[in-house]
Amino acid sequence: MTAKNILILPGDGIGPEIIDQAIKVLTVLRDEKSVALTWELGLIGGASYDKFAQPFTAETLNQAKQADAVLLGAVGGYQWDNLPRELRPEKGLLALRAGLGLYANLRPALLYPMLASASTLRADVVAGLDLMIVRELTGGIYFGQPRGIRTLENGEQQGFNTLVYSESEIQRIAHMAFKTAMKRQNRLCSVDKANVLESSQLWRDVMETVAKDYPSVELSHLYVDNAAMQLVLNPKQFDVMVTGNLFGDILSDCAAMLTGSIGMLPSASMNDKGQGMYEPIHGSAPDIAGKGLANPLATILSVAMMLRYSLQQSQWADRLEQAVVAVLKQGLRTADIQNTDQAVVDTSTMGDAVVTALRELA
Ligand code: NAD
Repeated sequence: MTAKNILILPGDGIGPEIIDQAIKVLTVLRDEKSVALTWELGLIGGASYDKFAQPFTAETLNQAKQADAVLLGAVGGYQWDNLPRELRPEKGLLALRAGLGLYANLRPALLYPMLASASTLRADVVAGLDLMIVRELTGGIYFGQPRGIRTLENGEQQGFNTLVYSESEIQRIAHMAFKTAMKRQNRLCSVDKANVLESSQLWRDVMETVAKDYPSVELSHLYVDNAAMQLVLNPKQFDVMVTGNLFGDILSDCAAMLTGSIGMLPSASMNDKGQGMYEPIHGSAPDIAGKGLANPLATILSVAMMLRYSLQQSQWADRLEQAVVAVLKQGLRTADIQNTDQAVVDTSTMGDAVVTALRELA
């Protein structure tokens, strides 16, 4: 079997610390020969700027294109905040997304029962929450033309954007969402605003057509306003939600915050070839960088997503996720998810605990 190759981009701030913990986990899987794996390190964001005066280079893009998957820490930091916009670390991330054609963003919102008190919602509403939002990432109103600010004949200024989705764009995100549902509980809810928007009417029609290819998946539809309400009212009713760029941007942040713990949530961005970029949803947290305070679990759970969605190793993904549950059950907590009665562990101790639990589950 040819080894799967991962490009690892630690990035800035807490990026290198949390990526170190992910590498510990990957090392266990590689050494056990659970998965044939190799990886190499690359530069992005401020780390790339400091070396090459660019947040993203052709070399990094080349490495990413050759890889089966990319694992990213986070980018950004105060020291680069005053650079011209095109040289800022975040630009590196956008360039990577564009360069790999990552059109589908998968954002799980999962709340382990033992962390239910971290949510601002009642524990009985959110404990055990496990939903996945599939967001279209490269189309819709964020990219539609024409756009701009123009001056009308009466001298008033007018801002305008275009919400446009072509059939093929909807088809490919639909296929991604149905396949994702098949790896979970076979339920897909498509979110649109078909009662008002023509682009949403086409979205709904295409979802219905693509559904015929996935008879085992139960498809439902919600208008986005109702979806927002249902997410807060009864989030556990959902398995997978699929939606466009704008609605997905808003709903995925809302779903993430149902869990109350930014340090626990992974994400994936996928392209047509099954290549993915995997990263925690949080940023580089410069306020806690270098202090051993960062929670590495979102990054470790990003590795689990990578195993499941790009490396086709669902059983190793399951095992890694079980290892995370095991350390939480043991009561280990980094500062961000601490309850008063629990001792706080640092980033590296949490990584080591996951490694121990992973070995015990072998
Ligand atoms: P942030 O997510 O970095 O931090 C928000 C808060 O959450 C901070 O208090 C931070 O300490 C805490 N936090 C974040 N991750 C944590 C973890 N793993 N463990 C414990 N606590 C954690 O968001 P921000 O402060 O708005 O942005 C900081 C920098 O990150 C900026 O330069 C921003 O542009 C960048 N950023 C990068 C990404 C990315 O790389 N994908 C995403 C968002 C923000």
